[in-house]
Amino acid sequence: MSQSDTLFDYKHIWHPYSSMINPIPCYSVVSAKGVYLKLTNKKNIIDGMSSWWSAIHGYNHPVLNRALKKQIKKMSHVMFGGITHPPAIALCRQLIELTPKKLDCVFLSDSGSVAIEVAIKMLIQYWQSLGQKRKQFLTIRNGYHGDTFAAMSISDPDNSIHQIYNNLLPNNLFADAPVSSFHKKWQKSDLISFKKIIEENSLKIAGVILEPIVQGVGGMNFYHPAYLKKIKKLCDNYSIPIIFDEIATGFGRTGRLFAFEHAGVIPDILCLGKAITGGTITLAATLTSRHIADTISISQAGCFMHGPTYMANPLACAVANANIKILKTNKWKIQVSNIEKQLSKNLLPLIHYPYVVDVRVLGAIGVVECSHLANVFLMQKFFVENGVWIRPFKKLIYIVPPYTISVAQLNKLTNVITQAVNNRSLFI
Ligand SMILES: *Cc1c(COP(=O)(O)O)cnc(C)c1O
Repeated sequence: MSQSDTLFDYKHIWHPYSSMINPIPCYSVVSAKGVYLKLTNKKNIIDGMSSWWSAIHGYNHPVLNRALKKQIKKMSHVMFGGITHPPAIALCRQLIELTPKKLDCVFLSDSGSVAIEVAIKMLIQYWQSLGQKRKQFLTIRNGYHGDTFAAMSISDPDNSIHQIYNNLLPNNLFADAPVSSFHKKWQKSDLISFKKIIEENSLKIAGVILEPIVQGVGGMNFYHPAYLKKIKKLCDNYSIPIIFDEIATGFGRTGRLFAFEHAGVIPDILCLGKAITGGTITLAATLTSRHIADTISISQAGCFMHGPTYMANPLACAVANANIKILKTNKWKIQVSNIEKQLSKNLLPLIHYPYVVDVRVLGAIGVVECSHLANVFLMQKFFVENGVWIRPFKKLIYIVPPYTISVAQLNKLTNVITQAVNNRSLFI
């Protein structure tokens, strides 16, 4: 990249969660293959982030590329209103087959946040059909569900800085986040807050929404499956539908195809995204039960009121199909299980290091929680200079590598993390 390109990017282009005044400079990636990102200076670095949980089979995957090329020769896009097409039908068939029997109807959309908006709108219309004006949602603190308005309104009020948008965000209900962690003892007291809120507001609540088992960027916590089980039971007691946001965890990341399988419960609505196209093009899906879909369809509007321009984009559907076909060979199970073992072996001992307060591993997710905030600029630079791509977040250094990463490549990632947590100058 030329000097002038770097300067142009710096001056004119917004990056995620960045300031336009003195932003942290970005690294320019010119290509990617397998687990490697190739920088402009020809240096190859190992991606520990899978481009935010999505590139699960690595970059430039021949099977995914072939599916895209094959589809582009037929058509890149066609409107979905009044028209259907084979890639969408094949994908929805696969999604229904992959998920529990109860989830029977699929709404495709452009991104995770939109899949959440869709789920929320569905439940508002669902209750309208039943003659009730319910509009509040109950969730748990430390959640993250996306950056659009409804998604923000159910994300952690402090992390997503609700007060910036005050009065514009719907006023939802927040229970305390569970403290019982996945691998430790279940503490009944975790339920108190949720139970109290659902009891007191049961006739106002349109739905419960949460990330099953893994709370993602809201804190990277893995909570106890018993919590999810009991929450589901409480929802059933009050006939309140529950939405599971598996946008980050879906498609094998936690060691199960879906994180809710750890608890043996099934949602009424399921949101999928991120890894659905193996990190190639944006796509998301909201799956519901037949009962919810049918109820919405008899609402005042007579239909579900949503329809994005690029709904069911054929290129995205075709590559999602290929991605799911790779998953169906079940190789991911052994890959994720091996990553889990290696991450546990390499990262858990870091708990004895001075600036580390907790280390957690679940499936292909490794989290090192530190005592100080990372200096993002210096730490990212340190990682890149040492041949890896890891984006620290507040006090968290976490990795969600592609499932295809080799033992040596993963050792490299965890070795560099080990060096980083020993280096006080990389923290604020
Ligand atoms: C990333 C994410 C979203 C939002 O998805 P986008 O595609 O970024 O809009 C929602 N929920 C969870 C759990 C996520 O990790």
